[in-house]
Amino acid sequence: MEFESWWLAAIPLFFGLGWAAARVDLRHEPRKRGALPDAYFRGLNFLLNEQPDKAIDAFIDVVKLDPETVELHFALGNLFRRRGESDRAIRVHLNLAERVDLDRSQREHALFELGQDYLKAGLLDRAEDAFNRLDATEYAGAALRHRMDIAQMVRDWPLAIDLAERLSREPGQARSHELAHFRCEMAVRALQSGSDDRLEQASRELDLAARAAPDHPRPFLMAGELAIEQGDPARAIRLWEAVAANHPAYLGLIASAWLAAHAAVDQSDAGIDALVQAHRRSPSIDTLAAIADAMERLRGEAAAMTWVRQELARHPSLLGLEKLFALQVRGASDEDRMQIETSQKVLQQHTQRLARYVCDRCGFKARSHYWQCPGCSRWDTYAPRRIEEMQR
Ligand SMILES: [Zn+2]
Repeated sequence: MEFESWWLAAIPLFFGLGWAAARVDLRHEPRKRGALPDAYFRGLNFLLNEQPDKAIDAFIDVVKLDPETVELHFALGNLFRRRGESDRAIRVHLNLAERVDLDRSQREHALFELGQDYLKAGLLDRAEDAFNRLDATEYAGAALRHRMDIAQMVRDWPLAIDLAERLSREPGQARSHELAHFRCEMAVRALQSGSDDRLEQASRELDLAARAAPDHPRPFLMAGELAIEQGDPARAIRLWEAVAANHPAYLGLIASAWLAAHAAVDQSDAGIDALVQAHRRSPSIDTLAAIADAMERLRGEAAAMTWVRQELARHPSLLGLEKLFALQVRGASDEDRMQIETSQKVLQQHTQRLARYVCDRCGFKARSHYWQCPGCSRWDTYAPRRIEEMQR
């Protein structure tokens, strides 16, 4: 049988158990002297023979005789959890949590560990139940954070909002950006619902989101999109101007809509000029492409190509070059068009990879921009820029 090397890491734990067992042995009457080390050594033998379940039973016998070995059992339980052996971690911690002879603080500690075991095992209901029972204990704050994580996993946004607000009241636990995202998710849900007042519901949520985090671009971007849907492009422009001033990089996400809103209020030129200013401050392929298309439409192909060439000289980019080819191909002669199209195809093989967005925490790549990473579930880990722009 192949010896699993990870048990070597547990050797200090076995020594600790041995030390504790010896201490217990000295303090008990002679009749028990033999029994206690027996249980301990039996457990150790089971571990070394790769029979961890029998080892747990033996160690549980040890802890029954002396609560002072409790800390060592916590270590054993956590070792199982880290190894991904959640069922064994649960057995160890459940035994401690149900022991009426342990003091309250130790049982609460066991319950907190048990909640984490259930979470790791994907038993969300049980994890939530364990964390719920830790209100008004020393683990309340940490349990609240885990409950908020669970609420997000099951996309229970009203509960997530309630928990984030409770958590925010604790010192050093501000959750304003998460709160804003939860409100925005509520707005998304309202918009997807078929209800008659879906726009009003979404608007209310986005107001609350902006109030929770006035420094975050998402509520303003979404409120602008909502204003467009409500037939109020002037309001959309006002909302997006706040984004242009404070977070110009995010304008890339709504660049085409920005220009369409300006066109709708007969201010196309002002819209292009403002976007050009934002692009200067924070260049991106999305603003470049939207500006180039609008310029081509309003000021002609030559003006658009001149501007794109200038911008490419300032910030060379393969994605920008692809846009330039797209402009060139439309006005080219048949012979030139074939040549440009060949270059386009070669370029596309590289740019497909460069045009993705990437999570700066887990590296998950996606064609669309996400506010919450589909890979690691963290918020705001996607910059509003493509991979090529991140490498500059
Ligand atoms: Zn991620």
